[in-house]
Amino acid sequence: MLIFHSIRCKTAESIAKLSKVFIKLGSGMGKSFPGHLYLRIGKMECVNYLARKLNIGSVIITGTNGKTTTTKITALLMANDTNITYNYESNTINAIVTGLLTDDKDIGIFEYGIRDVKHAIPDTVCRIVDPVGVVYTNVSREHSQVAGVKNPFEEYLKAKQLLSTPMQRGIIISNADDPRTTYIGKEKEKDVKVNYYGLELDIEDKTPLTGDVFCPICNSNLTYSKRYLNHRGIYQCSCGFSRPEPSLKLTELNTGKDRWQVKLKGEVFNYPTGEKVKIDFPVDLPAFGVHNLYNLLCAAITYISFTPHPERIEGTVKEIANSLDLSILPPGRFEIFQIKGDKMVGMGQGDNGDALKANIQFFETYLGQETASETAFIYTTPDEGEDEIFEDHLSSIISLNPHKVYVVPGRESIDAAREYYEIIKEQIPAEFYPVPHEDMDRRIEQIKELVKESSQRYIMVSGCGPEQYMWGNLKNRLKEEE
Ligand SMILES: [Zn+2]
Repeated sequence: MLIFHSIRCKTAESIAKLSKVFIKLGSGMGKSFPGHLYLRIGKMECVNYLARKLNIGSVIITGTNGKTTTTKITALLMANDTNITYNYESNTINAIVTGLLTDDKDIGIFEYGIRDVKHAIPDTVCRIVDPVGVVYTNVSREHSQVAGVKNPFEEYLKAKQLLSTPMQRGIIISNADDPRTTYIGKEKEKDVKVNYYGLELDIEDKTPLTGDVFCPICNSNLTYSKRYLNHRGIYQCSCGFSRPEPSLKLTELNTGKDRWQVKLKGEVFNYPTGEKVKIDFPVDLPAFGVHNLYNLLCAAITYISFTPHPERIEGTVKEIANSLDLSILPPGRFEIFQIKGDKMVGMGQGDNGDALKANIQFFETYLGQETASETAFIYTTPDEGEDEIFEDHLSSIISLNPHKVYVVPGRESIDAAREYYEIIKEQIPAEFYPVPHEDMDRRIEQIKELVKESSQRYIMVSGCGPEQYMWGNLKNRLKEEE
């Protein structure tokens, strides 16, 4: 039986690896098809056999926002010290297995997105991949509806938690500033090490929270003494639940126009050596917003926790951070750039409350002394049944208080977009442009025209929409005209 099992796994491995050769590298299919084939022939149990071939093990990165950027920076850091395999922008076990179909690697770094329990198998993934690390970026409400089915936040949080529930060794890396990821970490402290990360900066998010944040233990309202980014900050609850002291923190932020400087400080448990490493050095990085500071910090602590060469940490982090530029961000992500007529445009995906808020906060750092009244906001709406996302969006838009809001449907339903527009125009002057989803090209052109024809100096464009197809294209077309 055992022999049969191992023959089957070996056969699956050979065929799947062969398929890798025939699929164009970098194509969408290449990211998951070999893994799919492997699972068809070898079944789930064989994944364990593949996973054990890594000298150190696999690290899986999950969360609502920042997964891809965090995974990419972690891979850059880790690859500077050791042999790695990695996969990003992938949300299936097939993609992780494709990444595992490789030889002579020390560590695997994999992004894994979980929208809800029905469309993912987080605890199964944990059992068969047997990771040495599960990394949480943050947990915010998004996709309150998946494939037409209501997806309550509690279930969504539970699904994220399940990815690390079976772990009995290794490290969980958790955002201390996010009460939800802290809760997941706290619940596992009895089984594994938990490394927490957080900010210790003089900046503060003064805009209101998008919705109440409840204590994950007793369900009371959490109180914040400081918020860095929406629900991420320094919090506590009357039941005793509070923000833990981070093992690694970012301090002393200096913001320049193009580059920012910050200090990394802390004491982090390193898995390969089983020892704690003291961290205390400055790093130089691109000016890319508070949300990306979190991504960089999360990548740094993941790297520090798993590098087999702790003596190289300072040099590697400084070198990689120094070489980072905005091209690290996925093509549809929010960025700020200048266009003809001395206009400043902030543009990119913000399809959940947290993401749009982070975009606005980043844009506001460029508004300087100017008031928001010089800003036009082109808002691409959520879909039908996504009222919760709209509520979160609306509170952020109101806090920005732009001169005018131009409402364009971001998803399929034009009726839903019209309803959202009706609500917005009661608070802020607004116009509606009902371009259908089927005519995405026209939708992109419409938004482009609005940007070009706006009399405002500052134009922010964000909300929902297909990441690469809409946002990526839109940005390219605007930049090409320069
Ligand atoms: Zn509580």
